[in-house]
Amino acid sequence: ALRWAGVAKRFDGVVALDGVSLDVPAGQFVALVGPSGSGKSTLLRTANRLVEPESGRIELDGADVAVEPAPLLRRRIGYVFQEIGLFPHLSVAENIVLPARVAGRSAPDVAELLALVDLPAEVAPRRPDALSGGQRQRVGVARALSTGARLMLMDEPFGALDPVTRDALATAVRALHDRLGLTTVMVTHDMAEALLLADRVVVLAKGRIVADAAPATLLAGEAGAEAAALVAVPR
Ligand code: ATP
Ligand code: MG
Repeated sequence: ALRWAGVAKRFDGVVALDGVSLDVPAGQFVALVGPSGSGKSTLLRTANRLVEPESGRIELDGADVAVEPAPLLRRRIGYVFQEIGLFPHLSVAENIVLPARVAGRSAPDVAELLALVDLPAEVAPRRPDALSGGQRQRVGVARALSTGARLMLMDEPFGALDPVTRDALATAVRALHDRLGLTTVMVTHDMAEALLLADRVVVLAKGRIVADAAPATLLAGEAGAEAAALVAVPR
């Protein structure tokens, strides 16, 4: 379980997070939506300590993330972002084992990780530029899983993909979440994707949570005016 309690952050006086409290129980798939600049990325980044909050507390499985050394913490949290950041001069396999190697741990089973994300073993020796955009994102997901992390933070992981590839990958990620019993917080700009995939949709605006509801509740227009405006479901 992941828990933010009263988390606040400003950058040079600009409020990014204005006291966010959010409980994500183990096993839940949460979609985090909201306008550009509403604080979505900042919120994710406080969990793996890429951003230090100025007040509030973040707990992973009941323990304050601030007390665990950041490298240890990050092994327990898979982080997938839009520009996946594969090393172009390393093969797919080398990219996948890199986090474990950096941590001085035995190499994970690359074939097994590739199979998890539905990639053929043949891609292992290739360079990332010899893969499609969707395949590269799948490698990014495999790498996020390579340390055995059971919490996945995804920041617009499919933003750069065409709609068909995007749908296929989104469905695959949800299936993986269910199969491995992961806990997932995924930022997306796509409300339809959020409603289809997530157990729960959390809406941020100006660094505050303005709606937090199950997709069915949002679709029924029962989650408040701000949420209704964002959902804007055609009737
Ligand atoms: P987007 O949908 O465009 O990715 P977001 O919801 O992820 O937006 P954040 O990136 O969390 O928004 O940014 C929230 C606010 O904090 C914005 O005003 C942004 O300009 C500011 N901000 C974020 N990171 C930094 C930084 N490293 N330095 C200065 N300001 C920052
Ligand atoms: Mg962002």
